[in-house]
Amino acid sequence: MKDEDICWECNSRLKSRNVDYFLYGIKIGKFPARVCEKCNETYFSEGTSRRMTMIAKEKGLWGLQARTKIGKVGNSLDIKIPRKIRDFLNLKKGEEVTIHPEGKGKIVISF
Ligand SMILES: [Zn+2]
Repeated sequence: MKDEDICWECNSRLKSRNVDYFLYGIKIGKFPARVCEKCNETYFSEGTSRRMTMIAKEKGLWGLQARTKIGKVGNSLDIKIPRKIRDFLNLKKGEEVTIHPEGKGKIVISF
Protein backbone atom coordinates (compact mmCIF):
# COMPACT_ATOMS: atom_id res chain seq x y z
CA MET A 1 0.00 0.00 0.00
CA LYS A 2 1.13 3.55 -0.73
CA ASP A 3 1.63 6.14 2.02
CA GLU A 4 -1.46 8.09 0.98
CA ASP A 5 -3.64 4.98 1.48
CA ILE A 6 -2.94 4.86 5.23
CA CYS A 7 -4.44 7.08 7.97
CA TRP A 8 -1.77 9.02 9.89
CA GLU A 9 -3.89 8.88 13.03
CA CYS A 10 -4.75 5.16 13.27
CA ASN A 11 -3.00 3.38 10.37
CA SER A 12 -6.29 2.22 8.85
CA ARG A 13 -7.18 2.31 5.17
CA LEU A 14 -8.39 5.48 3.42
CA LYS A 15 -11.20 5.65 0.88
CA SER A 16 -11.93 8.32 -1.71
CA ARG A 17 -15.09 10.27 -0.98
CA ASN A 18 -16.57 13.71 -1.64
CA VAL A 19 -17.09 15.53 1.65
CA ASP A 20 -18.84 18.76 2.63
CA TYR A 21 -16.40 21.26 4.08
CA PHE A 22 -17.52 23.94 6.53
CA LEU A 23 -15.67 26.91 7.99
CA TYR A 24 -17.25 28.61 11.02
CA GLY A 25 -20.45 26.71 10.29
CA ILE A 26 -20.69 28.02 6.73
CA LYS A 27 -20.49 25.54 3.86
CA ILE A 28 -17.49 26.14 1.62
CA GLY A 29 -18.43 23.31 -0.75
CA LYS A 30 -18.12 19.60 -1.50
CA PHE A 31 -14.55 18.42 -2.15
CA PRO A 32 -12.76 15.19 -3.05
CA ALA A 33 -10.94 13.75 -0.05
CA ARG A 34 -9.36 10.60 1.36
CA VAL A 35 -11.30 9.53 4.43
CA CYS A 36 -10.26 6.96 7.06
CA GLU A 37 -12.65 3.99 7.26
CA LYS A 38 -12.08 3.69 10.99
CA CYS A 39 -11.63 7.15 12.61
CA ASN A 40 -13.08 9.36 9.83
CA GLU A 41 -9.92 11.51 9.69
CA THR A 42 -10.17 13.43 6.40
CA TYR A 43 -7.29 14.33 4.11
CA PHE A 44 -7.39 16.85 1.26
CA SER A 45 -4.82 17.23 -1.50
CA GLU A 46 -2.72 20.39 -1.63
CA GLY A 47 -4.63 21.60 -4.69
CA THR A 48 -7.98 21.02 -3.00
CA SER A 49 -6.77 22.86 0.14
CA ARG A 50 -5.75 25.83 -1.99
CA ARG A 51 -9.17 25.84 -3.68
CA MET A 52 -10.93 25.71 -0.28
CA THR A 53 -8.82 28.65 0.96
CA MET A 54 -9.68 30.66 -2.16
CA ILE A 55 -13.41 30.07 -1.71
CA ALA A 56 -13.17 30.92 2.01
CA LYS A 57 -11.48 34.21 1.09
CA GLU A 58 -14.15 34.99 -1.53
CA LYS A 59 -16.85 34.42 1.08
CA GLY A 60 -15.07 36.77 3.52
CA LEU A 61 -14.42 33.92 5.96
CA TRP A 62 -10.65 34.03 5.84
CA GLY A 63 -8.83 35.37 8.90
CA LEU A 64 -11.97 35.73 11.02
CA GLN A 65 -10.43 33.86 13.93
CA ALA A 66 -8.85 36.27 16.40
CA ARG A 67 -7.53 36.39 19.94
CA THR A 68 -9.17 38.77 22.37
CA LYS A 69 -8.87 39.48 26.09
CA ILE A 70 -11.43 39.16 28.83
CA GLY A 71 -12.02 42.47 30.60
CA LYS A 72 -14.00 43.40 33.69
CA VAL A 73 -16.94 45.79 34.10
CA GLY A 74 -18.37 45.97 37.63
CA ASN A 75 -18.97 42.38 38.67
CA SER A 76 -19.21 41.04 35.12
CA LEU A 77 -16.55 40.07 32.65
CA ASP A 78 -16.69 41.34 29.10
CA ILE A 79 -15.13 40.12 25.89
CA LYS A 80 -14.25 42.53 23.11
CA ILE A 81 -15.40 41.38 19.68
CA PRO A 82 -12.76 42.25 17.06
CA ARG A 83 -13.79 44.60 14.28
CA LYS A 84 -13.48 42.04 11.47
CA ILE A 85 -15.97 39.75 13.25
CA ARG A 86 -18.25 42.69 14.07
CA ASP A 87 -18.25 43.72 10.41
CA PHE A 88 -18.74 40.18 9.11
CA LEU A 89 -21.78 39.64 11.36
CA ASN A 90 -22.94 43.25 11.08
CA LEU A 91 -23.20 43.52 14.88
CA LYS A 92 -24.33 46.79 16.46
CA LYS A 93 -23.76 48.26 19.89
CA GLY A 94 -26.75 47.63 22.14
CA GLU A 95 -27.86 44.59 20.18
CA GLU A 96 -29.13 41.79 22.43
CA VAL A 97 -27.42 38.40 22.22
CA THR A 98 -27.72 35.07 23.99
CA ILE A 99 -24.63 33.55 25.56
CA HIS A 100 -24.03 30.06 26.93
CA PRO A 101 -21.12 27.72 27.63
CA GLU A 102 -20.51 24.75 25.33
CA GLY A 103 -18.54 22.20 27.29
CA LYS A 104 -15.68 23.58 29.38
CA GLY A 105 -13.70 25.27 26.62
CA LYS A 106 -16.15 27.25 24.51
CA ILE A 107 -18.67 30.07 24.74
CA VAL A 108 -21.43 30.40 22.15
CA ILE A 109 -22.92 33.83 21.46
CA SER A 110 -25.98 33.88 19.23
CA PHE A 111 -28.43 36.50 18.07
ZN1 LIG B 1 -7.87 6.75 11.01
